[in-house]
Amino acid sequence: MAVATDTFTEKTDEQKAITEMVRQFVDKEIIPVAEEFDHEDKFPEAIVEQMKELGLFGVTIPEEHGGMGLDLTTYAMIVEELSRGWISISGVVNTHFIGSYLLMKFGTDEQKDYFLPKMATGEIRAAFSLSEPEVGSDVQGIKSTAKQNDDGDWELNGQKMWVTNGLLSGVVFVLVKTDTKADPPYTGMTCFICEKEPGADKVPGLTIPPKIKKMGYKGVESTELVFDGFKCAEDRILGGSDGLGQGFKQMMDALEVGRVNVAARGVGVAQRAMELALRYSQERKTFGKPIAQHQAITFKLAEMGTRLEAARLLTLKAARLKDAGERSDLEAGMAKLFASEAAKSNAEEALRIHGGYGYSKEYEIERIYRDAPLLLIGEGTSEIQKMVIGKKLLERNKV
Ligand SMILES: Cc1cc2nc3c(=O)[nH]c(=O)nc-3n(C[C@H](O)[C@H](O)[C@H](O)COP(=O)(O)OP(=O)(O)OC[C@H]3O[C@@H](n4cnc5c(N)ncnc54)[C@H](O)[C@@H]3O)c2cc1C
Repeated sequence: MAVATDTFTEKTDEQKAITEMVRQFVDKEIIPVAEEFDHEDKFPEAIVEQMKELGLFGVTIPEEHGGMGLDLTTYAMIVEELSRGWISISGVVNTHFIGSYLLMKFGTDEQKDYFLPKMATGEIRAAFSLSEPEVGSDVQGIKSTAKQNDDGDWELNGQKMWVTNGLLSGVVFVLVKTDTKADPPYTGMTCFICEKEPGADKVPGLTIPPKIKKMGYKGVESTELVFDGFKCAEDRILGGSDGLGQGFKQMMDALEVGRVNVAARGVGVAQRAMELALRYSQERKTFGKPIAQHQAITFKLAEMGTRLEAARLLTLKAARLKDAGERSDLEAGMAKLFASEAAKSNAEEALRIHGGYGYSKEYEIERIYRDAPLLLIGEGTSEIQKMVIGKKLLERNKV
């Protein structure tokens, strides 16, 4: 596929058609109901069913496996549109995207043939699980383990935390230690493809406690996973027996594209906050004129718009570089850091522009203000992004 690297925001005809289709879907089916689902913390089942029909669970999955076979750039454009409506909707797709990426890049032929067609239609949805109650940023410090039995099967034990789509997913990519003495620790870490019944909170060897109550990012569930002798066949190691000890590298690779994904979510949130601020500031009048005409507010709009454009450019640049097969680790980190902070800042500025009404649950911006901070945390916090960016800059500029 030809990659346009001259103007990063340029869209092909296919990208224009698909993003327009998703925007219409979001305007009609998501924005009008997002507040209701958020207030009730209810899973948006009907919306997810429509997303299956639109093929949105198979955007990046190859056509031979029933997906659309589109690139990361187009995926990022779609995620921006979904997140503009409600980030919880993109949350339903995002962990699925990471699971698909892991399979496409590292899975055996049998694993791809078995899982990808069902994932492309959304028949089963994927989650991924690295974090634990005591470990998030420092992934090598995880404590969950898997041990091989005499019959060749593996048994997983340990507690996982913050698994988005933890209950309703049908497959979870779980990182555990298969060699607790390995030095460095990452060489003893393996990713297991754990199949489970969607919606079941207790299956042999696995208990899923009630979903974690969150300030925002509602509707989509985040859960713990408690493994107690959960059995996985040997062929459910990601990549087969060659995947033993490769889990950390596989997950870190997936998190790099995951960062582009989170950046795109940030752009969508920043975009919606901007739209709401532009509208409200032209409608609300104080001291005889629309507040948009007060310079202090005009400046806020100027800063919001500039941040939004910069975030979008960084995100599309990182996505296009990845699609072109070039190095994009530094760019993905920069995009994630900038776009997630832009989302948070635009949400706060839009809330301020709404005055007292911004604090009311009657207004969309109140939800966006609670949703945005998630982006500062998932797929590596802002502090961790800065560590990654600084390290990569030094690597690329050795003296
Ligand atoms: C709603 C939600 C959904 C999530 N979904 C998933 C999921 O699907 N799968 C999954 O595996 N995980 C998921 N996570 C977990 C998420 O990835 C972690 O919360 C994140 O990586 C941070 O880890 P932590 O919470 O343990 O914070 P910690 O690692 O304990 O960090 C605490 C603070 O210290 C800072 N910090 C840590 N180390 C350093 C350092 N070396 N230098 C400077 N500052 C540092 C951090 O930036 C942060 O500010 C989710 C989290 C949330 C809130």
